[in-house]
Amino acid sequence: MSETRHNWTKEEILAIYNKPMMELLYEAATVHRKNHDPNTVQVSTLLSIKTGGCPEDCGYCPQAARYHTDIEGNDLMTVSHVKAQALRAKASGSSRVCMGAAWRNVKDGPEFDQVLEMVRTINKLDMEVCCTLGMLTENQAKRLAEAGLYAYNHNLDTSEDYYKDVISTRAFEDRLETIDNVRKSNVTVCSGGIIGMGERLEDRAGMLVALASLNPQPESVPINALVAVEGTPMAEMEPVSIWDMIRMVATTRIVIPETQVRLSAGRTEMSREGQAMCFFAGANSIFAGDKLLTTPNPDVNEDMELFQLLGLQPQKPFTKISQPATVEAEDSKLHPLGEKPRWSRPGHTIERNELAKENSKLQQ
Ligand code: SF4
Repeated sequence: MSETRHNWTKEEILAIYNKPMMELLYEAATVHRKNHDPNTVQVSTLLSIKTGGCPEDCGYCPQAARYHTDIEGNDLMTVSHVKAQALRAKASGSSRVCMGAAWRNVKDGPEFDQVLEMVRTINKLDMEVCCTLGMLTENQAKRLAEAGLYAYNHNLDTSEDYYKDVISTRAFEDRLETIDNVRKSNVTVCSGGIIGMGERLEDRAGMLVALASLNPQPESVPINALVAVEGTPMAEMEPVSIWDMIRMVATTRIVIPETQVRLSAGRTEMSREGQAMCFFAGANSIFAGDKLLTTPNPDVNEDMELFQLLGLQPQKPFTKISQPATVEAEDSKLHPLGEKPRWSRPGHTIERNELAKENSKLQQ
């Protein structure tokens, strides 16, 4: 495993980002192989459980009530609808369902109780459950954890310096506070950002400084390319170049070595070759399904064809976040039932050395 550093400077990260492309790819792929199985990619399905009407003013988001977009809002989904969608996602190879609600923050009451029931329901399907519901208190994070939540997504979006140019209804520190509340509940953290919002390269580096300095670092880091939606303040932004995306993925892989780097919004604009380069540069997670909350995403079948073409395997649920191929092979030899060990399922955590001890007892 690479040594994880929390004290990266913006200058160091910029120097990595700006390396000659071949050097950057080689370094990122090397870090990737040391920390992960390069042929395994985690597949998540994102489900919008409550769309539109959000009081926040995120400049990139068509769900903000104040922008005139053609998003059709809907009330909170029923638990049975969510269960049906989760079963569909599981059948098409997803190991994780991420439920998103267009809320500023979670409010205690019947709607939150309904979300807790959704979490329990998906957890029983043997899938990882993630939520992205806005700001959370420590108590709400604990209730989600008790219901079986595996991950909570709360993106930093961009650097602290550029944040106020993107969102004025909350501050960068509010994001950090929610992430801290999630950490206290032992739920894993998913936090990343968006490129192509008019930020400078320094802001991309600044966002990575902030993510890398979290201790522990987030278990997943989604890297989004802005999908410029008509009616939002960012409608006229230029599309992100694939080369910027590859550089951002590779740099993230190097400075946050053990995380799952997730290709998120903007994947429809990327060619197969571009996506393959991102996987080589260290991306090891994607969102599947034809929609990402409200914006288009590649069809599941297209993704499976690409996996086949590249010899990639979807990751099983609850496998350890960082797990190089050789270690995984040893582990499956050791495991008495011949199953892959479940490292980090909430309430079922098995430490690596404990598992080895258990197995050696069984072999005696
Ligand atoms: S990104 Fe989230 S918080 Fe911001 S406007 Fe959209 S739904 Fe609301």
